[in-house]
Amino acid sequence: MITRIKGTQDVFFEEIKYWHYIENTIRKITKLYAFEEIRTPIFEHTELFKRSVGESTDVVQKEMYTFNDKGGRSLTLRPEGTASVARAYVENGFINRGSPLKLFYVGPMFRYEKPQAGRLRQFHQFGIEILGSHDSTADYEVIELGINFLKELGISGTKLYINSVGCNKCRPKYNEVLKDYYSDKLSTLCDDCKRRYNTNVLRLLDCKIDKEVAEGAPSIHNYLCDDCKIHFEQLQYYLKSRNLDYEVDHKLVRGLDYYTKTAFEIRSNMLGAQDQVLAGGRYDGLVEYIGGKSVPAVGFAAGMERMILLLKKMGIEPKVEELNTVAILPMNKEAFVKAFEFAERLRKKGISTFVDVMERNLRNKFKHASRIGAKIAVVIGEEELEKGFVTIKVMEEGSQYTVDSDWMADYIFKKLKEL
Ligand SMILES: [Zn+2]
Ligand SMILES: [Zn+2]
Repeated sequence: MITRIKGTQDVFFEEIKYWHYIENTIRKITKLYAFEEIRTPIFEHTELFKRSVGESTDVVQKEMYTFNDKGGRSLTLRPEGTASVARAYVENGFINRGSPLKLFYVGPMFRYEKPQAGRLRQFHQFGIEILGSHDSTADYEVIELGINFLKELGISGTKLYINSVGCNKCRPKYNEVLKDYYSDKLSTLCDDCKRRYNTNVLRLLDCKIDKEVAEGAPSIHNYLCDDCKIHFEQLQYYLKSRNLDYEVDHKLVRGLDYYTKTAFEIRSNMLGAQDQVLAGGRYDGLVEYIGGKSVPAVGFAAGMERMILLLKKMGIEPKVEELNTVAILPMNKEAFVKAFEFAERLRKKGISTFVDVMERNLRNKFKHASRIGAKIAVVIGEEELEKGFVTIKVMEEGSQYTVDSDWMADYIFKKLKEL
């Protein structure tokens, strides 16, 4: 048997309602905030991610699905959405549309990681970006949208954490300070920390293993330049003014190189060690880095599998629209022509109609109509064809009615209303 690839999943039946629920909520909230959708390709030139996400990051070093196509180009399945949005921004001249530009995306991302609950190799993200604004009001709005999105889903028990990761003016200095701090502790740290010490020392702060060592590290807030400091203070001013609870977490850093200034996370107390629900920050250098003009930007991404996990843990079950399906059960070849005609008449009235495209006896046809949850079954047999009527069975009651073919659709429409 050919099975699905490790770290991927089939979504069907009972599971699909969670996806529809989240997708509908995304459409609703982005519409309310006047964000526009962008759809970028699932694969890009490998160079895009190497340049934007950063050569030294775990994503680029270990987790990308990279391959050569038949033309010998190195391509990569996108491991995240922001780099593609920035690429599209430059390539399509979005800058001419004026600032700020508010965009959102939804779609699959790919990372070669050890599959775990809520984190697959093909996973799905909802993300938003505001491009063109330096202002902390943009950071604020991104965070507010994230909080209201979770609220709209019914997810509670979450908390907002914020930090500043500085900019290319002040971060180099802080990196040196961190290296100093960690230099004599390096031998006691985990392998990831040892590796990151030289390539991405900031990441040592969010190591899940060496938490205690990170606890004692000097805070970046003593090293921020004036620009970064003011930006961070203003963001807090807006959060406080709008009564959004938050906590400053000095150890909150992002795994991707392009982040500047604001970094934030919304965490849930119901998810255990992998408690992050939604995360984002500012990336002022990215657009310029991949070949555009200098365009400041801020955004977030949220993993949809993890949101579903959270919905289930909280016992939130999306309501499924009652379809009130009608099943049409033709009993012979000739009856099928009538069946399709009847189905068309019912569908024109907006009624969900299932045609039983199987040749089998009436008992089995009723059995299947009941399995799919049909409210009403319409039997078309020899006698019905001859005399121009149909037999209508109300499934739950078991009651049967004989109705003139011409009145069939009107009769069912009325009957469904009564049920
Ligand atoms: Zn700075
Ligand atoms: Zn470590």
